[in-house]
Amino acid sequence: MFKLICGLGNSDIENIKALVKLYAKAGAWMFDVSPFALAALNEAIEEIGLNKANFKYCVSIPVEGDVHGKKAKILPDKCKKCDKCAKKCPQSAISGFIVDESKCIGCGICKKVCSHGAIKLFDKTDYFDEFKRLLKTNLKLDCVELHASVANKNLVIKKLKKICKKFKGEISLCISRKHFSTLDVVEIINQAKEIAKDNVAFYVQADGNSMNGANAQLTSTIECAAFACALKEAGIDEKILILSGGVNEYTKKLCNELSLNPLAIAFGTYARKAVLNLEQNEALEVAKRLVENANC
Ligand code: SF4
Ligand code: SF4
Repeated sequence: MFKLICGLGNSDIENIKALVKLYAKAGAWMFDVSPFALAALNEAIEEIGLNKANFKYCVSIPVEGDVHGKKAKILPDKCKKCDKCAKKCPQSAISGFIVDESKCIGCGICKKVCSHGAIKLFDKTDYFDEFKRLLKTNLKLDCVELHASVANKNLVIKKLKKICKKFKGEISLCISRKHFSTLDVVEIINQAKEIAKDNVAFYVQADGNSMNGANAQLTSTIECAAFACALKEAGIDEKILILSGGVNEYTKKLCNELSLNPLAIAFGTYARKAVLNLEQNEALEVAKRLVENANC
């Protein structure tokens, strides 16, 4: 199944609505947005007249320190105005040497290319408050995903408990091996499963290389497939696994070769880039191909 990740840090409403409409028509299963974009997700499906019951709506919340919750800022006193960062930004979030926070997804590419140390990444901290506000609205919300790629197990567990105390729908834990060994991840997953035992469902989003799926390269997708296989070998049911991070058109092929049958493949950067600047009909054809390609 195909899950579309619009980007935890992406609150560019126009961009999100266009992506949701396109991939909903192409047959996507789940949409994952920032808590600040849940209203836009609800509206987008209504506007194209599709039945919302056929889709799952998910919002993502980061544990403090997770890369997905970061934003970039240009330091004017250090910036030499070379524009290198703007040219490399996958979200076109930099213009006039200023970062548009609503578009920035915290990938850090700009920081890497700036040779003057003029870019700082900081944590945006109000996602949980927005999530709590959403619970008081009548917006459809099926799933909450916790982005837990931080080197602190206790923080992850504490945040998950806070979410599960307020929300009994589906829970997804997005975790990578960046900070933990596979055994540590398995321990966290088992604890998380226990915390979410009264929730409707529990998924694990195995994040390979966060935000590295922009190009159709085997190397960017290998880590997520290898990670999912390692989790399966360690006893985690593959039917709760969603693959993300570096996902592209090689991912399903790799899964087939590895006899891996995950619940879904979650396309983020790759899905967004694949339809960028295409005419509507052409974009729909590409989106349909990607959705079809995710059916394991
Ligand atoms: S790459 Fe660095 S120096 Fe160049 S415009 Fe961006 S922030 Fe300024
Ligand atoms: S390159 Fe990444 S971190 Fe930098 S502004 Fe663009 S989206 Fe944000």
